[in-house]
Amino acid sequence: MSFSSLTLCEPLLNALADLDYSSPTAIQERAIPAILSGSDIIAAAQTGTGKTASFVLPILQLLNTDCKLRGKRIRALILVPTRELAVQVEKSITDYGRYLPLTSMAMYGGTKISEQKERLFEGVDILVSTPGRLLDMAHQRALHFDELEILVLDEADRMLDMGFITDINKIIERLPEDRQNLLFSATISNDVRALAKRSIYNPVEIFIKQDKESAAKIEQWLVTVDKGNKSALLSHLIKEQEWDQALIFIETKQGAAKLVSQLEKRGIPTESIHGDRTQAMREQILADFKSGHIKFLVATGVAARGLDIQNLSRVVNYDLPDQVEDYIHRIGRTGRAGASGEAISFVAKDNFRNLCAIESRLGHVITRKTFEGFDVKKTVPVSILNYVPKNKRK
Ligand code: AMP
Repeated sequence: MSFSSLTLCEPLLNALADLDYSSPTAIQERAIPAILSGSDIIAAAQTGTGKTASFVLPILQLLNTDCKLRGKRIRALILVPTRELAVQVEKSITDYGRYLPLTSMAMYGGTKISEQKERLFEGVDILVSTPGRLLDMAHQRALHFDELEILVLDEADRMLDMGFITDINKIIERLPEDRQNLLFSATISNDVRALAKRSIYNPVEIFIKQDKESAAKIEQWLVTVDKGNKSALLSHLIKEQEWDQALIFIETKQGAAKLVSQLEKRGIPTESIHGDRTQAMREQILADFKSGHIKFLVATGVAARGLDIQNLSRVVNYDLPDQVEDYIHRIGRTGRAGASGEAISFVAKDNFRNLCAIESRLGHVITRKTFEGFDVKKTVPVSILNYVPKNKRK
């Protein structure tokens, strides 16, 4: 299929040709016609599938009318979880919209509000923003939503993860009812569904699996291990496989403290983030981890929420999460563009049911590896792939 058969206009086709995009990706094939026809959509698609272009291209086309924009007004709003994503999405808008007379802006917290306010003064066609800063602007009456036509919730699951639900709800309350809604999310959890229900009307649903090439970039494997042997196994792997870095997920903060001291006793300097640390401290530790100053970071799942954790080379489920969505989320944090990522799970006998649920969702069993000196006393059986948790059985 070609982009022109998606009825994209000439200026967009020219921009795509400049960028050497020869054909649409799966999500683009499905989302572009639906959005151009005015439908609301809810799409499950990960980063790397071409999801940004799948909404930016049709939005540019829909907004390319002779409409005269009034001051402090916007026509499309793209809500994103992080500053980095805001900048990235806005860059796509300027890349794809280079031959169109539309304006765009990325807006986020942590920077001077006055300059951003000034830019809004004239009005902006497409605003990409994090929820907090957007609300600030609305409260200060620097921005009005009465001319808004399109709302995009991008990476909705991450926004919910980062605790933006109240802000998002407050924003949605302020928007005109008659608008087009587009929701994109790596995973469609119950929370994402609830958000969609409140904000989206009769959407077209699009589910895109990662293509084989990008999916293959994340190597998943597991080791069955007796509970009491986990920390010894982890130090063994770190040393024997010469790991450069790992984010290690654990259930409790007590467990985190214990593991840090166990690893340090074995000569592996480790840091931890858990609920008792302030958001500022967690962010600093995470920045040190990303820059490589901290090599091994133990995190409780709860503490990891609200942090921008992406593009890691390796995550370890020291404790297997209870929720399948959490597993999918964690493995989705690994794998940098073009490089490989690794997701390793420690599975004890008690985790068998969780493992079944996870492997059923994946549709395949996860490769098992064994290591000399770590034979298990309590064997973990091989999963039943059509396993349905008790509370979900009909
Ligand atoms: P995204 O999933 O939106 O983060 O996009 C992933 C990457 O794919 C970005 O670097 C895009 O520039 C690129 N991309 C998106 N659509 C296409 C396409 N149809 N052909 C080639 N590259 C694309």
